[in-house]
Formats: sequence, structure tokens, C-alpha cells
Amino acid sequence: MNKAEKRIDEPYAKQVYAKQVRTLYGSFMVGIAGTFIGAFLLMAIQWDFVDHSYILMWFALFSAFHLIRAVFVYRFNKVHPDDGACVVWGQGFVYSSIVAGMIWSLGIVITFAQGNLTYQLTVAIITVGLGAGAVSAISMLRFSFIAFVFPIMFTLVVLFLMEKTTTTNILSIIIFLTMLFIMRGANNIYVSNKNNFRLLMEAEDREKQLIIAKESAEIANKTQAEFLDNMSHELRTPLHGILAFTELGINSANDCPDEKFLRYFSKISESGKRLKILLDDLLDLRKIEDGKMELNFESNDMEKIINSCIEEQEAFIISHQLKVDFNSDNVLPFINCDKHRVGQVIMNLLSNAIKFSPEGGHITFFVKIVKNTNNSGEAIRISITDQGPGIPPDEHESVFNKFVQVKKQASNTGGTGLGLAICKEIIKEHKGSVWCENNDGPGVTFSFILPV
Ligand code: ADP
Repeated sequence: MNKAEKRIDEPYAKQVYAKQVRTLYGSFMVGIAGTFIGAFLLMAIQWDFVDHSYILMWFALFSAFHLIRAVFVYRFNKVHPDDGACVVWGQGFVYSSIVAGMIWSLGIVITFAQGNLTYQLTVAIITVGLGAGAVSAISMLRFSFIAFVFPIMFTLVVLFLMEKTTTTNILSIIIFLTMLFIMRGANNIYVSNKNNFRLLMEAEDREKQLIIAKESAEIANKTQAEFLDNMSHELRTPLHGILAFTELGINSANDCPDEKFLRYFSKISESGKRLKILLDDLLDLRKIEDGKMELNFESNDMEKIINSCIEEQEAFIISHQLKVDFNSDNVLPFINCDKHRVGQVIMNLLSNAIKFSPEGGHITFFVKIVKNTNNSGEAIRISITDQGPGIPPDEHESVFNKFVQVKKQASNTGGTGLGLAICKEIIKEHKGSVWCENNDGPGVTFSFILPV
């Protein structure tokens, strides 16, 4: 693995780099002001020892370049680029540091007063000052400070060496060593900043994960508590019915007319069936969770399955004064499916539609041949539309999770929130999909697709 690949592989590499670039640009206006002061001092102090036209031209070049740099810094702080764009801005900064280093080197060459040690020392002090200043201003990016510090200080080393006196030779060695110290210090700051940023990001990430884990634990707890509440309610209601009507039967066994007995027994049977449905749902869910649901695939007429479900629910449809319509394409193909399980899905969707429909409402089945979403073959889409309260759009997906009920209805509709979860699994086993969407008017439409 080469160095570049290793850098990309480091955790948070991109975010850390972006943070470095942001910190760099965030404080760099001060750096530009400092560099202007340095340039001005250099020009003013060395004024008598240099060719004025050269130094003025240099200062003009210097000012133009740093003004452009200032515009870029201003722009960066205004646009707040994202992490990806920060990579480009960072590279741009490195290139601009190379140019800044070259312009400064040129200034040092122009103002280096040959043969005059005192004035040469002034240039040296300003240059060392610049190098040291760069440690705090641009050490965020390693290449950036190397590109700036090395050319300016190395130029000075060479200029002193060219003077060829013992003092200037010693000075050049001192400056060379100072350059190494400065670079080393800057590198230490660079590395520790980078590590701090990474640690900060890790901490932020961990905090986010903890919050998510805490929230999901809270949701799981709440869902479980709601489930137990609903479950005990759903179990208790039919059980109460059974106990109450058996009690009545026992107490009035001697003088109870037959019709009354018949009514008691049918109530007991109704409650028993309700309990059975609930327990069947729970058992189904267990089977699904264990991957043990067995399907018996046969060629089936969908219209027949739907009609038998409607017939089964007829008593409820009449008692709620509902109207159920069936619309379909003219000729429906037979579907290879498990009749019992697909019937279970339709029963669940239909009984929900009945439960949530207002009295006198309309429930409509639409059956249509459509293109299968997964492959190019045909599929059959069955939709059930009601005129009930509908489901808030942000809960259209979650209602298919087990034990989930729509929040604003949960308190008064009973149920356990298992039916749709079971439907989803059954349809999945048939390689189809199920979803819901609100109607333009009141109510919701549940649809599922089964491949032909
Ligand atoms: P249950 O009906 O036993 O609670 P389901 O899984 O069948 O369980 O339904 C989950 C929830 O979805 C229901 O509690 C209800 O809040 C909502 N829901 C289902 N069908 C409809 C519908 N036709 N209209 C409005 N809400 C519905």
C-alpha cells in the first residue's frame, strides 16, 4: 500500500483534512496581514541599499498576489465548502504557498545588502520571523509550510554562504539549523492537530452512535410496552366475554329459554374465534421469524380468492353499512401462489379497511395486470381503497413493522400491530411487494403485487 492509499484508508481522512483546511482558511487573514507587515518592514529598512525600481516592482507583485490570496480566503469563509470541495481548496492553498515562498525568496535576494552584515542581519531576522510565523499560520497543511519555509530560509542560507566570510558561514549554518528546528516544530504541531481532529471526530461519531442506540432501545422498550398493553387488552376482552356468558349460562341453566342459550353460545364462540385469530397471528409471526413458514404454491384464480374473503367478512360489511366494489381488468391470469396465505393477506387488509371505514363508507378492490418491478414479466396488482382516516405519510413504511400501530389511532382501535407485518412477510415469500399510500380524498389504499 503506497502512502497516498494509506492516507485515504485512515479513518476520517477526508473529514480531518477538511477540518484542517477550514481551520487554515479561518485564521489566514491574520497571516496575510502579518506577511504584509514583514514585506513593508523589509522594504523600508533596506530602502537605501537596493535598487528602488526593483524593490517597488517586487512590492507590487507581492501586494497583487496577496490581495488575490485574501480574496480567495474571504470567498472560502463565505461559501463554507463541503468536505469534498475542501480537498480542492487545500490543494489550492499548497500551490499558493509555493508561489508565496518564491516571491519571498525573490524579495530576500533583492534586499540582501551584499557586504553589509548589519543590514544582512535585518533580512535574516525578518526571514526567520516569517518562518516562525508560518508555523502558527500554515502548519495545518504539511506541504504548505514546507513549500513556504524551505525556499525562503534556504535562499538566505545560500546568500550568506556566497558572502564567503567566516561570520557569514557560521550564520548560514545557524540559519540552516533554525530552518530544521522550525520545520520540526511545525511538523509536530501539524501531527498533533491532525490527531486531535481525528479524536474529536471519533468522539463525535461515538456520541452519535450512543444517541442512536439509546433512541432505538427506547423505541424497542416503548413498542414492547405498547404491545403488552394491546396484547393483554386483546386477550382480556374475548376472555371476559367467554367467562361472562358461561357464567350467565350456568346461573340460568334451569330456566333459560333455548334462544338465550343459543345467543350465549354464539357469543362464546365469537370470543373464542377472536382469541384463536390472535394466537394464530402470534404463531405465524414466530414461524416467519424462524424462517419456518411453509407455502403451498398452486395456480389460483385471484378473483375467486378475493370474493371468498369478501363473503367471509359479509356480516361485518353489513353491520357497518359498507359497500364493497370489485374492479378488475377483463381477463385476469391465474397466479401461482399459496391460496390460504394470500387469502390471509386480503382478509387482513379488508378487515382493517372495514375497521377504519366510517359507517356507510365505500371499500373498493382494484385488480390490474402490471409490469413486474423486478423483471420484465407480468404481475398482478391488488389494491384495497377505503375512506377511513388514512395513515400519516411518515408512517407508511413503519406500519408494516411488527407491533406498530399508527400513533394517533393506537389508543382506540385495538389490534396488536401484527397483521401488516405478517402480510409483508407472506408477500415477500411470493417475491412480491406491499405498500400503502393515501388517497386524494379521505382514506388509504393498500396495494400488493404478485408476479404472474
Ligand atoms: P392491527 O390492525 O392489529 O393493529 P395491523 O398490522 O393490521 O395491526 O395494522 C397496523 C396499524 O396500521 C393499525 O393499528 C392501524 O393503526 C394502521 N392501519 C392499518 N390499516 C389501516 C387502514 N385501512 N386505515 C387506517 N389505518 C390503518
